[in-house]
Amino acid sequence: MDAADLLNLTPAGLYCSVGDFYIDPLRAVPRALITHGHSDHARSGHAKVLATKETLAIMALRCGAGFAAEMQAIAYGEELRLGAVTVSFHPAGHVLGSAQILLSFQGKRIVISGDYKRQADPTCRGFEPVACDCFITEATFGLPVFRHGDPAGEIGKLLASLHLFPERAHFVGAYALGKAQRILALLRAEGYEKPIFIHPSLTALTDYYESTGLAFGTLRRLTPADMAKLRGEIILCPPMWLSDLASRSEAEPRKVFASGWMRVRARARQRGIELPLVISDHADWDALCRTIVDTGCTELLVTHGESDALVHWAQTRGIAAAPLHLMGYGDEEAARAAEAPE
Ligand SMILES: [Zn+2]
Ligand SMILES: [Zn+2]
Repeated sequence: MDAADLLNLTPAGLYCSVGDFYIDPLRAVPRALITHGHSDHARSGHAKVLATKETLAIMALRCGAGFAAEMQAIAYGEELRLGAVTVSFHPAGHVLGSAQILLSFQGKRIVISGDYKRQADPTCRGFEPVACDCFITEATFGLPVFRHGDPAGEIGKLLASLHLFPERAHFVGAYALGKAQRILALLRAEGYEKPIFIHPSLTALTDYYESTGLAFGTLRRLTPADMAKLRGEIILCPPMWLSDLASRSEAEPRKVFASGWMRVRARARQRGIELPLVISDHADWDALCRTIVDTGCTELLVTHGESDALVHWAQTRGIAAAPLHLMGYGDEEAARAAEAPE
């Protein structure tokens, strides 16, 4: 048996026929297993959703309490039987509540990693490698050029800039789920003690993180009245917000953006970022390779991102590797054709 017997790529996403469920489906389905709360993985409208309690809470915050007809929480390591398949969720180290999903069926183990990272992050449980026969990985940064480096060092650049330009407001673009809270934690870990301003769109998730026991020090919810008096302050805001900052703030805004993509200088330049910080919630090239080795898998499927280099790397190590979309399940067109009545 190989992965193709247990998982099918359908128009709605990855489907397990033996257990009759989808993983991170793209459309509303009868039963969804969700790896984490980012919007490309967690959508509303499913009949049943199985996820960690943190992911369920995050989905409720982002999509409203009625995001699914039925919700079931699963703890890390807990085993649950769905049809003939045993499923369990394991820490992915990506954002709070994020999980890899292990499917066990007739002695064969398949892990769907969702998104993951290996760097330490105080705001979520660290990634735990799960031994498996088949590992399904993302490859957002699946090229050797992507090496994220030390996040403390990146935050050090922000603090150095604040020291160098005390008259300027430092606006840090950070995504609402995961990145913003990680930046807060990193700033506090590096000894930054002043209040940190946060854009209103980041408060709900940050409050939720704090409700689970994390502490980010004094935070100030940003108001329009604050905009003129932010010299020397750090302000976390959504990345979109950076684009027309000049018109919003009188405090000589300095644009800072924290993302794995900031390794690519052209990207930073394009967006007018003065201070790029290479801080990512995804595994870099080395971490992707190390993780594949750690799982001991003999079969590798690569989902989104830069799959080619990683597939090649795995093949040279004797692992049967392929991009998921070429697995023979076909693309959306082919899947539709297969569904057509005789
Ligand atoms: Zn994600
Ligand atoms: Zn993703």
